[in-house]
Amino acid sequence: MAKDSPKTPKTSSSRSATNPSVSVWAAQCEKCLKWRRIATQEEFEEIRSRFTEEPFNCHNQPNASCDDPTDIEYDSSRTWAIDKPNLPKTPSGFKRELYLRRDYSKMDAYYFTPSGKKLRSFTEVTTFLQQNPEFSDVKPSDFSFTSPKVMIDTIPSTALLANSHKKGAASSTK
Ligand SMILES: [Zn+2]
Repeated sequence: MAKDSPKTPKTSSSRSATNPSVSVWAAQCEKCLKWRRIATQEEFEEIRSRFTEEPFNCHNQPNASCDDPTDIEYDSSRTWAIDKPNLPKTPSGFKRELYLRRDYSKMDAYYFTPSGKKLRSFTEVTTFLQQNPEFSDVKPSDFSFTSPKVMIDTIPSTALLANSHKKGAASSTK
């Protein structure tokens, strides 16, 4: 059923300057290219999980149409990170969290089990599932540590300056 991945994934997440993780979920309409706010992470993951088969458009949203103004603008007032399409939906009871590194270089994906244990890698997921047979209906393929790509044109200029400064300092110490 899955087709080729679109070249430009259009689901996205973005964050505010103060929150270390995602503050706003959004998806881009395939028709009018406007961005629509997605109320919850669960809904966002649902859209993302079947994005290739069912591209997002305004009419998927209650009371929305392509004639409505955009919900949020893609601009540098917030830092944007663009997700890959068709990542698996987080298994029920588990939680997926994304954290932006302090230097804005990338986001890291983690899972939390229903009891709050943090899983940082695919190996940890596999081990956890082996040790906890009560989750026999959960498969390792339900997890993905692929994190969204931080869009460099939306990174605050102060962070860019700090990064270039750091690189300069590193190379000058050699
Ligand atoms: Zn639209």
